Amino acid sequence: MGANRKVLILPGDGIGPEVMRQVRRAMDWGMRKRGLGFDVSEGLVGGIAYDTTGSPFPEATQEAALASDAVLFGAVGGPKWDNLDFALKPERGLLGLRKGLELFANLRPAICFPALAGASTLKTELVSGLDIMIVRELTGGIYFGEPRGIETLPDGSRRGVNTEVYTTAEIRRVAAVAFELARKRGKRVHSVEKANVMESGVLWREEVQKLRDERFTDIELHHMYADNAAMQLVRQPKQFDVIVTTNLFGDILSDVAAMLTGSLGMLPSASLGAPDPSGFRRGLYEPVHGSAPDIAGKDLANPLASLLSYAMMLRYSFDQGAEAELIEKAIERVLAGGMRTADIMQPGMARVSTRVMGDAVLRELEKLA
Ligand code: NAD
Repeated sequence: MGANRKVLILPGDGIGPEVMRQVRRAMDWGMRKRGLGFDVSEGLVGGIAYDTTGSPFPEATQEAALASDAVLFGAVGGPKWDNLDFALKPERGLLGLRKGLELFANLRPAICFPALAGASTLKTELVSGLDIMIVRELTGGIYFGEPRGIETLPDGSRRGVNTEVYTTAEIRRVAAVAFELARKRGKRVHSVEKANVMESGVLWREEVQKLRDERFTDIELHHMYADNAAMQLVRQPKQFDVIVTTNLFGDILSDVAAMLTGSLGMLPSASLGAPDPSGFRRGLYEPVHGSAPDIAGKDLANPLASLLSYAMMLRYSFDQGAEAELIEKAIERVLAGGMRTADIMQPGMARVSTRVMGDAVLRELEKLA
């Protein structure tokens, strides 16, 4: 992997530190046994950072994040900090990180391990072996567009305004991420918008098609309206390989896709920035779940979403696809062997703690390596 890559771990609050401890063990194993070269450091973010320094995203963490090649993030927030001013809330730390690192592409895989297919609300045959990648635009669209606000009209009634706005450059850079991913997977992209009723959707469709025709002619591109995509995701999810869509539609569709696979405790994610001249993309990797205050500190949390996020870091920031597969294979084997944390417990399986799940993954890694 060349010179050591800098990885910053931000465990955060609640179950964050517990699940990240298991990630740290897998990283240490990779460095010891697989020759991975990381300089690992840890920093403060979220509620614990606020308690320690007065800021949910202290300057030292900002600097460390900017100086790192990848950030592994646990989770932030909890009832203790719920009444703080918006600017001091733990979640500001996460938004600050995404903004500071200019991470515009959010990758949310929806993978259904065969051993967990029974836990889905959909029929087993519809989801078993499912492997979809949703690429959501993260820094543009209606959540950021101007004008925005709530105004009072002359007749005393009020009007709320948000604006869906996308530029060519914003569309092309996120579509390029989707096409590049598809090239390493099933070579199929569904681009999702509402071109039937929105001009920004027309532009989205045209620009994605143009980019495909210029640079990605090996990729099969389909355009789909967002309402139809939502329906198809629950009707026949395996028709999808990579989905690329706007911030708003991605927010909704990625949660629909998440439910296909069972539990929050199994879902990883990545947020990627623009490639540097050598093609390297900086990224933030984090489980989809939050800090789960109800089970924090009890050794009950499922560490697999965080371990799968670590695998995404290996694959997407460091081009270590084989090492990522090793982690994923180990997890698949542990699940097939019947071990379950409480959130994914099924009849006849063995219920284990966070730590024991981490032990089991390391044991399978040893066997596979
Ligand atoms: P949550 O994801 O923390 O928890 C929802 C439910 O899922 C809880 O019952 C929890 O016990 C369970 N759960 C979540 N992750 C689990 C895991 N790994 N293993 C086993 N069970 C798990 O969502 P919430 O309860 O809505 O939010 C709790 C706090 O987390 C809030 O302060 C919220 O703002 C914050 N939050 C943070 C992030 C983040 O840091 N990215 C994301 C979502 C919510």
